[in-house]
Amino acid sequence: MSLRKCAVCGEIAIARLPNSKLFLCADHFKEYVERRVLRTIERYRMIERGNRILVAVSGGKDSATMLAILKRLRDALAVEITALHINLGIPNYSDKSEETTRRLTQKLAVPLVVVKVEDLIGMSVPQLARKAGRPVCSACGLVKRYLLNAAALEGGFDKVALGHTLNDMSAYILKTFLTQDLSSTEKLGPYTETIEGVAVSRIRPLYETSELETLLYANFSGLPFVGEKCPHASPSTLEAELKRFMAALNERYRGIEISLVRRIAKSGKATQVESAAKLCKSCGLISNADLCSYCKITATCTGEPKGSFTRRFLRDLLRLEV
Ligand code: AMP
Ligand code: ZN
Ligand code: ZN
Repeated sequence: MSLRKCAVCGEIAIARLPNSKLFLCADHFKEYVERRVLRTIERYRMIERGNRILVAVSGGKDSATMLAILKRLRDALAVEITALHINLGIPNYSDKSEETTRRLTQKLAVPLVVVKVEDLIGMSVPQLARKAGRPVCSACGLVKRYLLNAAALEGGFDKVALGHTLNDMSAYILKTFLTQDLSSTEKLGPYTETIEGVAVSRIRPLYETSELETLLYANFSGLPFVGEKCPHASPSTLEAELKRFMAALNERYRGIEISLVRRIAKSGKATQVESAAKLCKSCGLISNADLCSYCKITATCTGEPKGSFTRRFLRDLLRLEV
């Protein structure tokens, strides 16, 4: 069997380009992924020169790849980047994720801020979920969304960068269609707008990059990342099923995933944060009721809403570390 050659340099190829017959060597594959991310950032005008970007890093392959690429593009984009990791207190998982994120940011020489949920509310996310009688993943998503936004606001950042991939986004979009949760489709674009003082713009630089690409990128670059999934992630959720379904569909109908997310991005609505948003009476941040869901769940489980305390804590932490 003859070895495949890189279409760019002729060296031995080790990866095939998705949706294409071209083969590339490790270096040219990495360059291809970097260029795709840069094009995504430019296409949707995600970043402006001089922006301070808070990069949310979980310890997994996707956000590791996002951080490595943003670091490589940092000077060309004229931005400043800081990584933020949230330790959720999940046994046998969170400490390993934190430690891996520390190694990653050291390797990439990117400043890192670590926030421990337990320091903020006196309990871990699984304990919070149990007390609130909610699934762990729903409490976890709620806490992460609040902390990322609050940290960006208190640290004076212009953008929060999330590592959602093309596979995540296409599955989420299908799910909102199947469940007719169409107002949520609006949050599945490549970015959300800033609402001055209450909500920081979120961007998704991997909006058009697949998980296979982030996995190969992370491996070819020797990035430290946690391989196993969170112990609470179930392979039988609708979301997980839809991911497999979309991957299979994309094999037969090449490019259908990309065109789906591009259409959602184009629909314009995708970039808006809910227009009827209110402000939380306790912490002052964006909310869809009198109390935001973070203040509500912490009030139920700890006896007091923790939003204001959390904001002060993050302000002190980010002032010290950044
Ligand atoms: P998930 O909500 O787990 O699907 O993750 C989506 C994105 O949120 C990741 O790609 C990260 O950018 C960010 N994220 C998830 N978990 C954490 C964490 N523990 N700390 C910081 N950012 C996170
Ligand atoms: Zn090559
Ligand atoms: Zn609140």
